[in-house]
Amino acid sequence: MRAKTKMIHGGITNDENTGAVSVPIYQVSTYKQDGVGNHRGYEYSRTGNPTRHALETVIANLENGEAGFAFGSGMAAITSIMMLFDAGDHVVMTDDVYGGSYRLMTKVLNRYNLDHTFVDTSNPRSVEASIQENTKAIYIETPTNPLLKITDLKRMAEIAKKHDLLLIVDNTFATPYWQQPIDHGADIVLHSATKYIGGHSDVVSGLVVVKTKELAERVHFIQNSVGAVLGPQDSWLLMRGIKTLALRMEAIEANTKKIVDFLQGHEKVTTIYYPGLPNHPGHELAGKQATGFGGMISFDVGSEKTAEQVLEKVKYFTLAESLGAVESLISVPAKMTHASIPADRRQELGITDGLIRVSVGIEDAEDLIEDLEQALR
Ligand SMILES: *Cc1c(COP(=O)(O)O)cnc(C)c1O
Repeated sequence: MRAKTKMIHGGITNDENTGAVSVPIYQVSTYKQDGVGNHRGYEYSRTGNPTRHALETVIANLENGEAGFAFGSGMAAITSIMMLFDAGDHVVMTDDVYGGSYRLMTKVLNRYNLDHTFVDTSNPRSVEASIQENTKAIYIETPTNPLLKITDLKRMAEIAKKHDLLLIVDNTFATPYWQQPIDHGADIVLHSATKYIGGHSDVVSGLVVVKTKELAERVHFIQNSVGAVLGPQDSWLLMRGIKTLALRMEAIEANTKKIVDFLQGHEKVTTIYYPGLPNHPGHELAGKQATGFGGMISFDVGSEKTAEQVLEKVKYFTLAESLGAVESLISVPAKMTHASIPADRRQELGITDGLIRVSVGIEDAEDLIEDLEQALR
């Protein structure tokens, strides 16, 4: 089954009892047992819920993995995955990782002695050099947020294998439509499904897919023990989002290309970060390991003042955190999504105060370009 078909037929697609073509929302916490210890597959909804299970099946299918798991947010998914490790373990992570993941490692999990090193994972040699005796995993984002750096998934898988580490990939930006990290050797893929997978800015959620049965058992044990599960209503919303994921991603990327073309010719724009541009350092690699370049663009307008003026003047780009929705969103990462990263570290990474990040939506590209044009003027 190909990706577009999987999004429609790849999970549990209907209700055996009634013929309903959409999975019902099983708004239920517990299940009647036929005898003591004799249940029909469900005992309690933290452990398993039919609506959540249908979602977990379709995402596992889309990522070509063994099993899927749904969590109450992307951060709940990431935290739960970090629970696979012990105090004293060490994780190598992408340096311009999502701000919330940075905060989790440096302000929360550090208190449990889960150690980390941030490296530029687009450079495989830096990754190898940062591996310690207690390293247990390489955790990457590709493309990254907000600079859209690309990390070589196959190279990371080779390094992970050689050192007996898990390769964990946050695939939020690429989506399972464009990129399937498990096919390149990843062990665990995770998503903030709040973004493209949900796609309509109406649900906060996280998804995990694992490669092996052994990992599936371990992650299910943690999902059930920690309990950060996704509710049935939100599970249903994500399945609804997945049905149009391919269409939305195609429309978003077509709009993105037009907007990048416009920005390239604009005098106020000093740098554009988009992996679809031939001069982007990760362009060739992105083209090899993903089938699309996505809908995120970051561009520098030189100063905080100009950036703020642009954000004030745009009409169709909603000033908001988050990304991946049908409506175009605009933000200044240094002041918003990445504000939890210390200022000197932001400078080091290139997340300047004049950097604007756009998440392109599915509006008419002409309207979006006219809007950016007047705002930049
Ligand atoms: C938003 C985001 C997260 C966190 O997900 P939430 O659903 O907001 O908890 C993690 N990784 C990336 C890349 C994100 O964009």
